[in-house]
Parts: sequence; structure tokens; C-alpha cells
Amino acid sequence: MRDTLKHRGKRNQLADTIASKGVTDKAVLDAIRSVPRHLFMDSSFEDHAYQDKAFPIAAEQTISQPYTVAYQTALLGIKPGDKVLEIGTGSGYQTAVLLHLKARVYTVERQLELFKKTNLFFRRMGYRPKKFVFGDGYKGLPDEAPFDAIIVTAGAPWVPRPLMSQLAIGGRMVIPVGEEDQTMMLIRRASETEFERQAGGAFRFVPLLEDKG
Ligand code: SAH
Repeated sequence: MRDTLKHRGKRNQLADTIASKGVTDKAVLDAIRSVPRHLFMDSSFEDHAYQDKAFPIAAEQTISQPYTVAYQTALLGIKPGDKVLEIGTGSGYQTAVLLHLKARVYTVERQLELFKKTNLFFRRMGYRPKKFVFGDGYKGLPDEAPFDAIIVTAGAPWVPRPLMSQLAIGGRMVIPVGEEDQTMMLIRRASETEFERQAGGAFRFVPLLEDKG
């Protein structure tokens, strides 16, 4: 599959749609206009790529709705060079948006099938996260901490402690918290021991699953 002028036109419209829904961060909208979302999906679903909707990918998972990706990314206020931990790589679309913002991205996926597929895709496309780890996002990546930003892209029943402790002071985490529906939580680490929490909109994500092992 290729990226054509037609795709680019649709991405411009998608960015306008997202802006009209309230996400106006220029850098984030630029990423939406740039990242070829249709290439992150099965080619037979190309027509769905630039609708503002979540869509099934492999292993019963979904590629997040573009509005949601934009909303979460805007809340993080990413600056070039920021060290960012992403939990739930999935298709890699959110990862690519973070890379477009020139973040140094560490991303974790727990489904082996998706991990393998997306790993190949990153190589083929030349997307270069600093690390792409097959593992359990509840644990984060303690060896790489602290992170300037942490983004969780699956619904978490609670905020995992290890992720809190892996935030840099002044760092921010965006995480959808709840079982069936989630509230987007923005957590800022104010000091070693103080965390400020702010509740955002309501969303519905696939669940952040715990390791059985
Ligand atoms: N950002 C992705 C969203 C994929 S859906 C995209 O836009 O494509 C959420 C992803 O989180 C799924 O791929 C799922 O397998 C993964 N996931 C669920 N529980 C996890 C865990 N404990 N650790 C890491 N990834 C997890």
C-alpha cells in the first residue's frame, strides 16, 4: 500500500474534525495530518482509516480512535526529546504520532502476535522507537525510568504503582481509569511524594490486562 494525495486529503479533513471536537494543539494536529493511519490497518479496511473511529486490529485489539490519540497526546504536552513510555503499542499508530513529535519512545505490548507484527511493520516503515518491549505494562520499564511522560492506551482498573514511581518529577501520565468505561486521568508528579490528579473526558478502551504468569 502507498500513501497518496487522496490519503493526505482525508487526513487533513480528519485533523479538522478532531479540531472541531476540541483538540487544537498545533503539533498534535500536524502529526495527525502526517502519520499515514491507513498503513497501520489491514489493507482491506483502508476506507475506514480516516473516519474518526476505533477499528479492530489483530488479537481482538483495536487501533484507538484518532480523536482519542490526539486528546491523550495533547494532554501530555510533548516536547522534542522528551522520554516517553507508552503502554499498549497495538498497531503502533500512537507510537508513530509520538515519534512525529520527536519524542524518544519506549513502548510495551503484551500480546505476542501484535508485538511481532508491529515490530516488523516499524522496521519496514523506518519507525524507530528507542525500545519496543514484549512485556507487561503494569510493571512499566524500571530500568529506563524516569520518564517525562507516560501514556497508557488501554483501560486500567487502577493506576499501576510502578508507573507512578517511574514518572520524572514534573512528568505527566495520561491513563484511562475504569472497568467498562474509563475516565481519562492526567497525573502530574509535583515532587518525590506528591501527585496532582485531574479528571478529563469519558472513553471506552480495551482492557489493560494483567499477566497471568
Ligand atoms: N495505541 C494502540 C492501542 C491499542 S489497544 C493503537 O492505537 O493501536 C490497547 C493495547 O494494549 C492492545 O494492543 C493490548 O494488547 C495492549 N495491552 C493490554 N494490556 C496490556 C499490558 N498489561 N501491557 C502492555 N500492553 C497491554
